[in-house]
Amino acid sequence: RPIHSEDKVTGLAILFFDVTEQLQAEQLRREFTANVSHELKTPLHLISGYSEMLASDVVAQKDIPQFAEKIHSESQRMIQLVEDIIKLSHLDESEELAMEPVNLYQISEEVLDSLSAKANERHINLHLLGEPAYITGNHALIHSLIYNLCDNAIIYNRDKGDVTVDITSNEDDIVLTVQDTGVGIAKDEQERIFERFYRVDKSRSKKLGGTGLGLSIVKHAVNQHHADIKVESQLGLGTKMTVTFYK
Ligand code: ADP
Repeated sequence: RPIHSEDKVTGLAILFFDVTEQLQAEQLRREFTANVSHELKTPLHLISGYSEMLASDVVAQKDIPQFAEKIHSESQRMIQLVEDIIKLSHLDESEELAMEPVNLYQISEEVLDSLSAKANERHINLHLLGEPAYITGNHALIHSLIYNLCDNAIIYNRDKGDVTVDITSNEDDIVLTVQDTGVGIAKDEQERIFERFYRVDKSRSKKLGGTGLGLSIVKHAVNQHHADIKVESQLGLGTKMTVTFYK
């Protein structure tokens, strides 16, 4: 805009808007939508294909349970995926979270309890160390955080492996660690695993029921609580996730 002074243009005012963040957010949203569509389409095609075959009587009697099981597991995967997407979109939308005193030890106990059947199937031992420790947090979000870390520690473990959750109170912080004896994560993948839909081994993760969204929910929860998360891992030996909550 020109700047006038006594009928003369004496200057020019130029305003610059930095839209980098806005464009990046739009780009992320576009990628997310494309990913979601792709992730939902694959199980839907399988379900549609299998059920069509069952309906048109081309499946031998003895193969019917196997087809039904495939339809069941694919729909379970879709339910998990939709639940994770809903959780993430809630997190993206909601600005103010209800905060209250939450006991990390108690939530860990509940999480390990709910995962014990899954761990038993592969003879994985679950351990809880430490003592009750309170942070100011959102109960549902902290539950998701601990649940996703422990779920991964079981899924990516070896049979007869161990998962250890430890809660330590220090003077300035409270530290939660989830350690496993599983496949580990290569150094150059350790940053990327927190991205939405990123998986180190896509087909393996899908087979194990993964959605690729678990750790992005964890990252979100960590940010909302102004906490930090650190990954230490060695291929073939295991992974240790450390979350630090500041007092
Ligand atoms: P998924 O639903 O595939 O488990 P996540 O977002 O929870 O998605 O994790 C992303 C990827 O990070 C996983 O697909 C897996 O490859 C890797 N990963 C996460 N946790 C672990 C772990 N404890 N040990 C080894 N790899 C892991």
